[in-house]
Amino acid sequence: MEKVKVAVIGAGPAGFYTAQALLDANEIFWVDIFDTLPFPYGLVRYGVAPDHQKIKAVAKVFAKTGRNKRVRFFGNVGYPDLIDLDLLKECYDFLFFTVGAQADRKLNIPGEELKGSVSSTEFVYWYNGHPFFCQRKYNLQSRNVIVVGIGNVAMDVARLLAKNYDQLNSTDMADYALEEWKRNEIENIYVIARRGPAQAKCSAPELKELGKIEGVQVVVSPSELQLDENSLRELENSSSARKVYETLKQFATDNIDPSKRHIFIKFLLSPREILGNGKVEKVRFEKNRLVNKDGYLAAEGTAVFEEINASMVIKAIGYRSFPLEGLPFDEKAAIIPNESGAVVGIEGDLAGRVYVAGWVKRGPRGLIGSNKKDAQQSVNKLVENLTSFSLPFRKRECDIKEYLSQRNVDYIDFPTWLKIDKLEEERGKKLGKPRVKFLDLQEALKALEKD
Ligand SMILES: Cc1cc2nc3c(=O)[nH]c(=O)nc-3n(C[C@H](O)[C@H](O)[C@H](O)COP(=O)(O)OP(=O)(O)OC[C@H]3O[C@@H](n4cnc5c(N)ncnc54)[C@H](O)[C@@H]3O)c2cc1C
Repeated sequence: MEKVKVAVIGAGPAGFYTAQALLDANEIFWVDIFDTLPFPYGLVRYGVAPDHQKIKAVAKVFAKTGRNKRVRFFGNVGYPDLIDLDLLKECYDFLFFTVGAQADRKLNIPGEELKGSVSSTEFVYWYNGHPFFCQRKYNLQSRNVIVVGIGNVAMDVARLLAKNYDQLNSTDMADYALEEWKRNEIENIYVIARRGPAQAKCSAPELKELGKIEGVQVVVSPSELQLDENSLRELENSSSARKVYETLKQFATDNIDPSKRHIFIKFLLSPREILGNGKVEKVRFEKNRLVNKDGYLAAEGTAVFEEINASMVIKAIGYRSFPLEGLPFDEKAAIIPNESGAVVGIEGDLAGRVYVAGWVKRGPRGLIGSNKKDAQQSVNKLVENLTSFSLPFRKRECDIKEYLSQRNVDYIDFPTWLKIDKLEEERGKKLGKPRVKFLDLQEALKALEKD
């Protein structure tokens, strides 16, 4: 059988796992991976915390996929600006959208727009050297910082804020961010959870790590660790929640060590207003209680309020995918609607030809590895459907390279990326770091010319 051409839009974990699953499924599949960003690997490069280098080793697995002769990579080629649906459906038999969840969820409270009120999405992208966010400026000369949320992203942000320049200097954190860490004057970091300690979304190892930072005391007031009957039952049924709770108990104290920087973890609070004159000065919280709503323990306000002074608020309350031109979107779930990865709600000549994998398929949940199983499911679905199609779907053989060159697009192919990757590692080696990232394509291309 002749080649079946597949376009994968989004070169994060889901994109690379999809490409590998296609390669493994059948040698008829030939895959082109596109990404808006010049460099691949999505949140592995721009999300995973710089002091968690071991996790980034998964990039080696993706590089193996990228080197396969049936795979091509086109970095700096975003959908739909440079490749739109009309082009994709003419040139490819099947399309996979693996674009992740690029937006953040909002608190929707007054004062959210004040200077110093920041989403974890932009803050994380900033310290990780994301090309679209590296011009931002954040100031760590704040005595108090509030982190809203208690998931693993909140853990990353709280941990990094609690560290000093010296504790981060050997990571691949962007240089301009490291400069800010030189002026890190934070004394208190408040991690705020809407619900109780039995419902904390973080995982135990990430929480434990907070307690291992030199010079930092993690504080949970013992009174906050008392559990109601429903929460006790939740703990009985979940070993991961039990582990988190046991870790929280290790931090229980009312004795504050004034010689240390503090991470205060506080429960049952919802931010209601961010207050300040042009910039954040304090946050007003409403105390919550837990109520059972059809088996789900929800937070309900008690009309009792408290305020915490802070000049920075980082909202780490989750990510959101946004709609893509020409594709259906489920606003409520913030995903592209699909059945086991096959996009539903597409009529006409694209019906049955569009698939999704990763966060845009199932929402912003799960570790890097969970996208492998997820991508496999979507590829299985495509393979299952394959027999019902008379191929090829594509209307013509397209020379994508020629198409991009004619438009003067500086795209990055995989061999070029591998050279850039090597250069970044070499730059890092000289400074005792895993790598020093290029912040944009032109900087990388100039360095390649010199090399
Ligand atoms: C801050 C943070 C830290 C994390 N830390 C860990 C960790 O330590 N360990 C762990 O296992 N998991 C971690 N995760 C989870 C992990 O990163 C995700 O499970 C995974 O990245 C999701 O993969 P994805 O491919 O769906 O999305 P992404 O990784 O976001 O990849 C999507 C890709 O699509 C591209 N794209 C978007 N829109 C377009 C478009 N229109 N056209 C072309 N390309 C486009 C993006 O540029 C990106 O490269 C973390 C997540 C976050 C947010």
